[in-house]
Amino acid sequence: MFVIRWFLRYHTFMENISKLSFPHFEKGSVWLVGAGPGDPGLLTLNAYHALQHADVIVHDALVAPEILALAGDQAQLEPMGKRGGKASPLQSDITARLIELVEQGHKVLRLKGGDPFVFGRGAEEALPILEAGYTVRIVPGVTAGVAGSAYAGVPVSDGKSNQVISFVTGHDKTGEVPAVNWQALAQSSPVIVFYMPMKHLNKIQEELRKGGRSDDELVCIVSKATTPDQQVCETTLVNCVTDAEKSNIKSPALLIVGPTVTFRQSLIGCFS
Ligand code: SAH
Repeated sequence: MFVIRWFLRYHTFMENISKLSFPHFEKGSVWLVGAGPGDPGLLTLNAYHALQHADVIVHDALVAPEILALAGDQAQLEPMGKRGGKASPLQSDITARLIELVEQGHKVLRLKGGDPFVFGRGAEEALPILEAGYTVRIVPGVTAGVAGSAYAGVPVSDGKSNQVISFVTGHDKTGEVPAVNWQALAQSSPVIVFYMPMKHLNKIQEELRKGGRSDDELVCIVSKATTPDQQVCETTLVNCVTDAEKSNIKSPALLIVGPTVTFRQSLIGCFS
């Protein structure tokens, strides 16, 4: 009985999808697609369409196996992605491989975590392919900073708390603390979501405190957000470094600072 019901539901789902019109995935073109932060349910339908039709899928280390499992039978999977702290291919090697595959006439899916344009070097990957004369289609994805915060029960904005949200990277291309105006950031953006915060958590905390943020301000570190291994460490700005160590929370993680962290206790049940 259960199997029949499941089959009928699956059939309706596929029938509904087949009624939509998707862009044609041409041979000898690259689709640069965001896979979202992990939960396959956050994949866009365009991303699903691309997975089904690609010949080769060149994917980031952060793309979940459950998402890669949605690839069509013809697809060849090639892991190639950056992963903080571990040996990873050079950007130039990734670009060279994408161009090689597209030159061979494949439908090439470059699948990246989250959204390709949010700290994802999407433009850097697309431009050389365009310059080589090939077509690129960009498919935006759900970015970790928004969905990851939400799955921890933290809205990135709230009518009463903030009219500004900042998304900040925890380190620049060279691995150093980014050269942002910390004072201006601390004073003008009630909610700040840091991507890749763990390497320089100490420095981030110090700069925000120097910039005038309160020691007692609630902050939240969310690791592996939207996946079954999601881990959340809710603490205060002054305690975040020691509490992160104590809870052994690991990358990939987000650091959310701001008044909307207080919603967590009420909203956390909305995501399970
Ligand atoms: N383009 C991606 C971000 C790439 S940078 C996006 O739009 O989401 C990689 C960083 O994103 C990680 O170090 C981490 O800070 C964050 N990130 C990506 N997926 C995450 C997840 N599931 N949980 C927590 N942080 C995540």
